[in-house]
Amino acid sequence: AHLDRIAAVDPTIHAFLSVDEQGALEQAAAVDARIAAGETVGPLAGVPLALKDVLAQRGVPTTAGSRILEGWRPPYNATVTQRLLDAGIVILGKTNMDEFAMGSSTENSAYGPTYNPWDLTRVPGGSGGGSAAALAAFEAPLAIGTDTGGSIRQPAGFTGTVGIKPTYGGTSRFGQIALASSLDQPGPCGRTVLDTALLHEVIAGYDPMDQTSLDAPVPPVVRAARSGDVTGLRIGVVRELGGEGYAPEVEANFHATVEMLADLGAEVVEVSCPNFEYALAAYYLILPSEASSNLARFDAMRYGLRVGDDGTRSTEQVMALTREAGFGAEVKRRIIIGTYALSAGYRDAYYGSAQKVRTLVQQDFAAAFAQADVLVSPTTPTPAFRMGERVDDPMAMYLNDLCTIPTNLAGNAAASFPSGLTTDGLPLGFHVMAPHLADDRLYRVGAALE
Ligand code: GLN
Repeated sequence: AHLDRIAAVDPTIHAFLSVDEQGALEQAAAVDARIAAGETVGPLAGVPLALKDVLAQRGVPTTAGSRILEGWRPPYNATVTQRLLDAGIVILGKTNMDEFAMGSSTENSAYGPTYNPWDLTRVPGGSGGGSAAALAAFEAPLAIGTDTGGSIRQPAGFTGTVGIKPTYGGTSRFGQIALASSLDQPGPCGRTVLDTALLHEVIAGYDPMDQTSLDAPVPPVVRAARSGDVTGLRIGVVRELGGEGYAPEVEANFHATVEMLADLGAEVVEVSCPNFEYALAAYYLILPSEASSNLARFDAMRYGLRVGDDGTRSTEQVMALTREAGFGAEVKRRIIIGTYALSAGYRDAYYGSAQKVRTLVQQDFAAAFAQADVLVSPTTPTPAFRMGERVDDPMAMYLNDLCTIPTNLAGNAAASFPSGLTTDGLPLGFHVMAPHLADDRLYRVGAALE
C-alpha cells in the first residue's frame, strides 16, 4: 500500500531519491516467514520506513544528496540501518536531503527539491525534508533523519510531524556520511509520539563501531510516550528564543502550548541562556571546519564520481575537476569557510573562539537545567517559507536554525512536536530540550500535547 502511495504522490512531492521496491517486498516477506515459523517479532516488524539518504544501506544507492556520490552503493550497512532490518522494519527507499545535510530547505539537493505536502509552493525544511515530507504525505509511517543543527527538528516543525534528536552518543553514527562529527546524530521521525518512541528504542544504544557512542542504558522513551504525565514537570521557557524576529503567530501558538502544559500540571518557569545569541555564529564556524575535513575523503579515487581521468592528467587535476563538478555551491562555500577558519594564523581567532562559545552555551544549558527539567521554545522563528525565497541568501537560510543549534553544540536531546496550524493552514512546531540521556522527558511532553 505504501509503495502504491509513493507511486501516486511522489512525482509531486519528490520525497524519495530512490525506492527499493524489490528489497522492500523481500523484507516484508521475510517478516511474514518469521511470523509463520512461530518466531516472536518486535512491535515494528513489517512496518515500512523512509531512510535519509545519508545513511549507508548495503547495495542500495546512497548519495547524501550529492552528485559526487552518484552511483555509489555501499558495501555495508550503517548501524542504524542494520538495527532497522534486524527489527523487521521494511526500508521503502532513500529520502531526499540537502547535499551532505547542508541546508534548511532541501533546495540544496543535487537532485532537485522536495515539496512541502501542506503547501507545494513551500519548502519542507531541511536538511531532512525528504523524510519529513514522506511522513506528512503518508508515503511512510516512520522515517529516519540526522540532526547536526536542526535537520530532524526543523523539517518536523515545517511538516507537522514528530522529530527527535537523541542525546549525542545515544544513537550510532557508524555508516552515517559525516557532516560535522561532533554535532551529527541520527534520530527517529514519525507522525505520532508513540511510533517515534518505538523507533527510537530500535535504533538507540551502545555501538562499539562508533567511538563517541555512549555505553549507557537507553532512556525509557516508550514508557514515557505511553504516560504523557507532566504533573510537576518544571518547564523552562528560554527568554532568548522568542520576541523580535519571531512571527507573531509562532509566538502566540508557542505561548498557548505552554499554557496548555501548565493546565496539565506542569510548572512553568522562565530561564535565561544569554550565550545562545552567539550559538549560531559559533556553529557556522565549527560545522564548516569539521565538514571541510570530513569532505576531504571525496577525492575521486575512493567513491562515486571521477572526472577527467583520461590518462593525460595528474591525480591532483582529476581530484580538482571531480570536486569542482561533484560539489554544489553550498558545499563549496562551507569547505572554503572551514579551511579558512582552520588555517594557520586564523585558527585561534575563529575556530578557537567558536569552541569557547560552545563551552559557554553548555554552561548556559547546565544553569538552565538546574532550574527546569526541560526547556522549550518554538522550533523555528517562522513557519515553512516559500521555495526559492532564501536560496540566494545564506544568512537568511542560516537564521532558521536559531532555536535548534544550541542543542547540537551541547550534545543534549531535543524534539519538535506538532503544535497546530497557522491561519493559512501551515504547521507549527513546539521545541523541547532535555538534559543528556533524559530523552524520555521529551516524549512525556510530546505525549501530553498529543
Ligand atoms: N540547517 C543546518 C545547516 O545547514 C542543518 C544541518 C543539519 O542538521 N544537518 O547546517
